[in-house]
Amino acid sequence: MNLDVIVIGAGSVGTPTALFLSEAGLKVAVIEKNPSTGQGQNKAAIGGVRATHSDPAKIGIGLKSLEIFSTWKEVYGDDIGWKAGGYSYIAYREQEVSLLKKLLKIQKEFGLEIEWLDKKDLLSYIPYLNPVNLLGGTLSIKDGQVSPLKASSSFARQAIRKGVKFFYNEEVVEILHNEHKINGVRTNKGDYFCETVVNAAGADASIVMKSIGLEIPIFPESHEAGISCPLAHFLKPLIVDLREGPEGKTSNFYFGQNDEGAIIFCYTPEPSIQGIDRDCTSEFLPVIARRLIDVIPSLAYMPVRRVWRGLYPMTPDGIPIAGREGNWEGLYILAGMCGQGFMLGPGFGKEITAQITNGKPVLEPEISKAFSINRDFSSQVEALK
Ligand SMILES: Cc1cc2nc3c(=O)[nH]c(=O)nc-3n(C[C@H](O)[C@H](O)[C@H](O)COP(=O)(O)OP(=O)(O)OC[C@H]3O[C@@H](n4cnc5c(N)ncnc54)[C@H](O)[C@@H]3O)c2cc1C
Repeated sequence: MNLDVIVIGAGSVGTPTALFLSEAGLKVAVIEKNPSTGQGQNKAAIGGVRATHSDPAKIGIGLKSLEIFSTWKEVYGDDIGWKAGGYSYIAYREQEVSLLKKLLKIQKEFGLEIEWLDKKDLLSYIPYLNPVNLLGGTLSIKDGQVSPLKASSSFARQAIRKGVKFFYNEEVVEILHNEHKINGVRTNKGDYFCETVVNAAGADASIVMKSIGLEIPIFPESHEAGISCPLAHFLKPLIVDLREGPEGKTSNFYFGQNDEGAIIFCYTPEPSIQGIDRDCTSEFLPVIARRLIDVIPSLAYMPVRRVWRGLYPMTPDGIPIAGREGNWEGLYILAGMCGQGFMLGPGFGKEITAQITNGKPVLEPEISKAFSINRDFSSQVEALK
């Protein structure tokens, strides 16, 4: 088979990347060890899509992704569950007020539409929010929500229409190369040849690089989530509460109501739980239920449908690794997406397509340096991981 690019992994990042590469005229194959698209961490995501970050490069990729998600139905005809309504970071303490207000400057400078709402305005946008001790919050109105399940199948369907070949149930076990020039991949079923390989293997991205002795600092962390039965629509934005939980086991938590009316929710365990354990815990539901009711008391009556657990592919600074690996000609890394791979996937797909084809990049090179694999991972930290 004559191929220009092989993408490893049909996940949040790999599938839209394959689509955009093929739209740019390249012959693309995706190799995925699972039986279909989106079966890695993509299906664990709760579907929040935002450009509300603290790092300018993430804001830029996030804005590109939002443009793609919000116009997907018009451009490609498929419903991916897009729900407008924005993201709101709420503040009940002065420390969150000062952090969020401090970030507004850089967020606005890099093109994010975001405002600070005082208590009265926030309550009029989110009427059921607990008003006791509420100080205000941010609203980035162009953010939204999307179904990761509908989106990944639509990305794959559109990619197939464009001629991308998907090889499922097939695992990449080795990167083929001649000196430091990439010339394909070896899977458990055979060899495929091409001059460009994109490693979009998510939480396994560092394992895939072992055959060429390349170390990339990506380590999985376990996170749980859940979803309710559909409720009447009452909640416009996805809400993030940055406080640590009173029970001492959580830091921030976030939730929203998706386009079908279900409340979808998640928290960040404190301390973080490293590793690949995906068994649900007995403490998740009681802990998050208290936190949800604290912020929206009427959620006390919400019937929960199911819970699940997945992985955040973390980097030390909470910023993805994206771009060409300098020592290996033809190797691109698109991994370490942390808790934002679904929302950043399409934007990164466009960015990497531009880099591979010499098209117009989404980001200025000076800004995209933040994603370099050769950066100092201790010098910058994303404040809204
Ligand atoms: C509870 C929870 C909630 C989340 N909520 C959100 C959210 O609201 N918004 C958001 O943006 N993100 C969210 N995330 C994070 C998001 O799920 C991840 O960042 C994202 O899915 C990572 O995308 P990826 O493409 O890098 O990895 P994946 O989607 O996991 O794709 C990688 C693919 O590579 C395949 N693969 C790996 N190794 C090989 C190999 N050797 N050969 C072939 N195939 C291979 C895997 O099977 C997998 O399908 C959440 C995560 C969790 C756990």
